[in-house]
Amino acid sequence: MHAKILRFLLFVACVGLLSPSARAQGPRVIVIDPGHGGPRDAGSDAAHNKSTSNNATSVAHHLLEKDLTLQLAKLVAARIEASDAGRAGKVKVVLTRDTDVNLDFTRRAAVAADAHAACFMSIHFNSDDGHRASGPRAVIQRKANNPNFDEDKAFGLAMAGAVENVTKKYRPQTPKASWQDDHELHGNWGSYLFFQLNQNPATRTIPSCHLEVEFLDSTSLEQTFFVDKHDEIFSAWADAIARELIAQVTR
Ligand SMILES: [Zn+2]
Repeated sequence: MHAKILRFLLFVACVGLLSPSARAQGPRVIVIDPGHGGPRDAGSDAAHNKSTSNNATSVAHHLLEKDLTLQLAKLVAARIEASDAGRAGKVKVVLTRDTDVNLDFTRRAAVAADAHAACFMSIHFNSDDGHRASGPRAVIQRKANNPNFDEDKAFGLAMAGAVENVTKKYRPQTPKASWQDDHELHGNWGSYLFFQLNQNPATRTIPSCHLEVEFLDSTSLEQTFFVDKHDEIFSAWADAIARELIAQVTR
């Protein structure tokens, strides 16, 4: 074989070995974790390896975060599967739960590892004691524990930004997408879910975040966002989140 051609073939083979996108044979797997779930927590069931069955609740209609996270996650999954990239087999979506159960954090993280996830996003709706806060927010594992902090922050802000673009069409004064680290979670220990993702080399360096889509317990948002225009807004959020997730894993 001509030496020039041989050198070119060796170069192509090396790029193939080094590049993650070229190395990946199958579809890029997006893992979505619908936060919370399951029956009401009994007594002091606040083990650090499990979230509460539900956190945020809307004020007037008593809508539950655990139901809305599952509803939105299923919509996002359907959008990803129906997308061009989904139908072409370039991306695939796996949910950590598709029923009303509360998997512990070890199980949720194991779903991502078993699926060889390219990214991991846990969906939540937020709450605030004053019932006045609003706006999308990403929660990122704190820098001290997180070898992947910069990438996680960029990923989280991109996801929250996708939500913001939808939300501000309905409410122009919605705050800009923001982020916070996880130091307040689980009694200031940080997210045990992020900790579990870090335990496994298969998921240690994939982009991961919690996406707090909107405040569920805001008295000024509830009627429009979660009742009157619920279907329309959830559909628009799902479209935007699906598009951004696909963009994140196929760049
Ligand atoms: Zn939550």
